[in-house]
Amino acid sequence: MLWVKGHKKLVIILSLVLVVALVLAIALPVGLANKDNGTYYAYSFEQFNENEYYKLDGGKWTNASGEKGTYEISGDKITIYQEIFGSNMKLASGTLKDGILTLSIGGAEMKYAMKGAVHVHEYEEWTVVTPSMCMRQGTEQGKCKCGETKTRSLPLAEHKPKNEWGMDEEQHWQICSVCGQAINKKAHTFGEDFCSLCGLPAKETTGLEFREDGDGYIVTGLGSATGPIIRIPAQYDGLPVTSIGNKAFYNCDGLTSITIPDSVISIGEEAFSSCGKLTSVTIGSGVTSIGERAFRDCSNLTSVHITDLSAWCRIDFAECSASPLLYAHHLFLDGTEVTKVTFSADITEIKDYVFRGGSALTSVVIGQNVTSIGNNAFRRCSALTDVIIGRDVTLIKEEAFYECSVLKNITYQGTVDEWLAIEKEKKWDRDTVNYTVTCTDGTVSKYGTVTRK
Ligand SMILES: [Zn+2]
Ligand SMILES: [Zn+2]
Ligand SMILES: [Zn+2]
Repeated sequence: MLWVKGHKKLVIILSLVLVVALVLAIALPVGLANKDNGTYYAYSFEQFNENEYYKLDGGKWTNASGEKGTYEISGDKITIYQEIFGSNMKLASGTLKDGILTLSIGGAEMKYAMKGAVHVHEYEEWTVVTPSMCMRQGTEQGKCKCGETKTRSLPLAEHKPKNEWGMDEEQHWQICSVCGQAINKKAHTFGEDFCSLCGLPAKETTGLEFREDGDGYIVTGLGSATGPIIRIPAQYDGLPVTSIGNKAFYNCDGLTSITIPDSVISIGEEAFSSCGKLTSVTIGSGVTSIGERAFRDCSNLTSVHITDLSAWCRIDFAECSASPLLYAHHLFLDGTEVTKVTFSADITEIKDYVFRGGSALTSVVIGQNVTSIGNNAFRRCSALTDVIIGRDVTLIKEEAFYECSVLKNITYQGTVDEWLAIEKEKKWDRDTVNYTVTCTDGTVSKYGTVTRK
């Protein structure tokens, strides 16, 4: 009986062991391991990347590239092994907690998350923070229910064209009243006599007054011609038109646009003085001199048009109001605004007043061969930040860079001593910021502090 009793006990114990083993065998992979099973997508910058993931399944993983391996979990720690040629190599280790898998792989930390384990912001109710303008993108801010905000930029606003048209020989355009850019550029559409949009005459203006002068003609006045747009002909009575006489268009207050042909060599004193409605001037490439006060009181000028920058740089301007740029501020070469100027190799002196008032100019390269920089040459170039000056310059004339209020960098292609030896006339750098002159062997500040390499 004792044996039988003992035997029965053994059977019960064995049965219990069997049941526990069976329960464990089912519970371990399905229950305990199961809480980590699932797909962990790469998650960064608040976004899931569905193309990159680890799919964990009962100690084995696979990914989007078809790679596979095993992993071990101990508490929050996870170690990932990759199966390479049949054997397991340690690939990464990290943590696995609350549906977020953080792995350190080759020194970089990568985050993977189960869908739903992380909060994905949903930004709504976008409100404008700064409205867009045509030259600057505005911003708007969105808010997530969790309180997080996000700022993003808005598209540029449309330009606001002024009503009147600017024009040169080839095309017309409008000026944006906000940013000053030339917009809506288009070739003229000539009807019978005028461009139907801007009014440019299809033909050169007839009826102007001329006076014969040697082998050419001088324009002396408006004659029977009517404005507001004047295109001076290149020829009159079989001879070239070579100059605009003194006071030829003085006080022509109906004039809005004037085109001077390449045949013209000189523009006389006060030729366009007090043309208060003049907005656009096209200067031909033959002009070499412009007399005193030629554009004085042309205060509505907005654009000067040229087709040859070197030719512009060779003009002798008698004084500041001899240049239409004084009021216009914007110089256009073949319809594109000139913002960077590199003086061509054949230029040996920078003429007086050449870019005075050119407020769109940002950089100037004065290369070798140039020996002097003219009086007022860049005065009030209010956007000019960078100037390169060649080693041959020996003279910088009066007020050359006066009121270049943002001039920061002058790069001089000679030594500090050579820079200091350049003759600089009075007020040449007055009203500029504290710029730095970078020479080949050191720097010089505006106020003369020398640092040698
Ligand atoms: Zn949120
Ligand atoms: Zn604009
Ligand atoms: Zn037109």
